Amino acid sequence: MSQLNEILEFNRAFVADRQYEPYRTSKWPDKKLVVLSCMDTRLTELLPRALNLKNGDAKILKTAGALIAHPFGSIMRSLLVAVYELGAVEVLVIGHHGCGMAGLDAQRMLQTMSDHGISPATFATLKGAGVDLEEWLRPVSSIPDSVRLTISNIRQHPLVPKSLAVHGLMMDPETGKLEIVSEMPSQPSFRMSE
Ligand SMILES: [Zn+2]
Repeated sequence: MSQLNEILEFNRAFVADRQYEPYRTSKWPDKKLVVLSCMDTRLTELLPRALNLKNGDAKILKTAGALIAHPFGSIMRSLLVAVYELGAVEVLVIGHHGCGMAGLDAQRMLQTMSDHGISPATFATLKGAGVDLEEWLRPVSSIPDSVRLTISNIRQHPLVPKSLAVHGLMMDPETGKLEIVSEMPSQPSFRMSE
């Protein structure tokens, strides 16, 4: 079942043949850009190609639904690291049509967990600890609305600088076509006197 051996075999040849050379770059995002998008498999190569992003151009963060669900969770921390440690000045939040997060069914997923051996006692313990699993696994009613909510959460975050440009977009997962959901006007540029 595991793909690991096949992957390791490919990897040995990849390194030995120096196939990594076209991808060499630094940790600094050359386009000073962060892209927050969905883990959907259709976007894996399509999204960077459709945005003309090469290795080294942008910090790319992926979560189911392109959501930032917690102001002090690991996605928000990654975004702040990209801004303060790695020089990013612009963020694109890119949701997509046909997103699985819009069809999430908490009851079905909890049943599947049971089928995989998660015990009723575990669910009871989590409930007793105040974890509302149905709320946590709640589907997103509208992906464009959740993109708007995520960009609003970023802009209003107490540790995000006002200078950070944050835009919201939707992508067609078949063609890569982008539509603007929310565009932040660019900062007025400083005019040199003539
Ligand atoms: Zn998705």
